[in-house]
Amino acid sequence: MPDPKESDVIIIGAGPAGLATALGLSGSGLSVTIIDKTLFPRDKVCGGGLSSRSLRVLGELLPASKIGFPMLPIHGFSLVTPDQVEYIYLPAVLGEQPVLGATIDRRLFDHALLEAVVELPGTVFIGETEALAIHTSEGRVDIETSRGCFKGRMAIVADGAHSKLINSLAGDPFDRKTDAIALRGIFKDVKPEGAEAVVSFYFLKDVFPGYFWLFPLPDGHWNAGIYLPLGFKQQKKHNLNRLFFDIIQESSVLSGRFQDAILTGSIGSDILPLGKCCRHYSGERWLSVGDAASLVDPLAGEGIGNALMSGQLAAGHLLEAFRNNNFSTSFNSRYEKELLRRIGPEIKFRQRLIRFFGTKPRLFNWVFRQIARSSVFQRTVVRLLYGNSAPGRLEFYQ
Ligand SMILES: Cc1cc2nc3c(=O)[nH]c(=O)nc-3n(C[C@H](O)[C@H](O)[C@H](O)COP(=O)(O)OP(=O)(O)OC[C@H]3O[C@@H](n4cnc5c(N)ncnc54)[C@H](O)[C@@H]3O)c2cc1C
Repeated sequence: MPDPKESDVIIIGAGPAGLATALGLSGSGLSVTIIDKTLFPRDKVCGGGLSSRSLRVLGELLPASKIGFPMLPIHGFSLVTPDQVEYIYLPAVLGEQPVLGATIDRRLFDHALLEAVVELPGTVFIGETEALAIHTSEGRVDIETSRGCFKGRMAIVADGAHSKLINSLAGDPFDRKTDAIALRGIFKDVKPEGAEAVVSFYFLKDVFPGYFWLFPLPDGHWNAGIYLPLGFKQQKKHNLNRLFFDIIQESSVLSGRFQDAILTGSIGSDILPLGKCCRHYSGERWLSVGDAASLVDPLAGEGIGNALMSGQLAAGHLLEAFRNNNFSTSFNSRYEKELLRRIGPEIKFRQRLIRFFGTKPRLFNWVFRQIARSSVFQRTVVRLLYGNSAPGRLEFYQ
């Protein structure tokens, strides 16, 4: 067994981004050490929604037989516009209902991915180890941690939204004003939206252009929360906890669903580092992935898909770097270019959309009325939400 303190690749953070990187290195023969400051299984404040991108990348990284976490397939969504009109989208393709996404419990999801990772030969996980600083020097990268120094030939910075390391490496501090914040609670006995597994988005006046979400979970519980992009003036004065419970109790479109609901466990909130396309994602002997690289979708607040995808890309790049024995800033910028090529246009487009509609709730209402009438519009919306793998024949019920 190689010394875990000296390995080819050191991954800092065992969330979806870091674990996708490790899964992508499966069979490479490289020695990989993953460190995380927590002890697993650990929870992560999250809505637990997996988009079609998340499902696609997961399928590429992990054989179906290794998917050791419960997942609830999602067949449609409902959306409430600020004028409180509800639209339900349930696609039917040749009589069957395609899967648009899924929901998961993050504690079980991350733990199952970690279990699949530690089975890989040459891969070691060390929990309760906090990375404190990172230095590159002749021929290696050193990670100073709460358990001493870990040495590697390449480092993957995957330590999430509050990354300690990325600012010292990338040299451009986060601009929190343009990030988002979200709060979630887990409930039982929420009234479902019909018989199907459907996720619901409520674009209510008080949170617009953010939304209130309500997702059914695999174990019968419900994940409810609010997503608030911080770039909008009206968001600054909110007390998030109060707003959340006010909406549940007072909103005419939601209070019925929460009539018999019981909150199980505590409420949690956190920052979402939104995609900006202006950060450095790589340098000498390091790459950043997931939230540490600010890759969350600015429109929907979805971050797991880009975390998994950036980890998969980083793994592909690592193989190239070791093949060429080249870990320089200029060689690693290939990863950055590929990442921006894949998600840059999408992030910029979604930033523009949210800025455009952010101050125009009435226009948003109007657009959805048109969407309900036009199949072309419907396809566009579904592509925006679910990517190109969305099914072709759609039905919208108002
Ligand atoms: C309330 C809320 C709801 C959300 N809902 C959704 C959703 O429904 N769907 C979706 O796709 N996305 C959602 N997101 C975003 C999603 O949770 C993140 O984008 C995703 O977890 C990013 O994965 P990651 O691996 O980059 O980071 P993380 O999952 O945060 O993992 C980072 C890991 O690094 C570890 N770490 C941190 N610092 C250190 C250190 N110094 N040393 C060692 N280890 C360290 C942490 O313990 C953690 O395990 C939500 C976010 C929030 C806040």
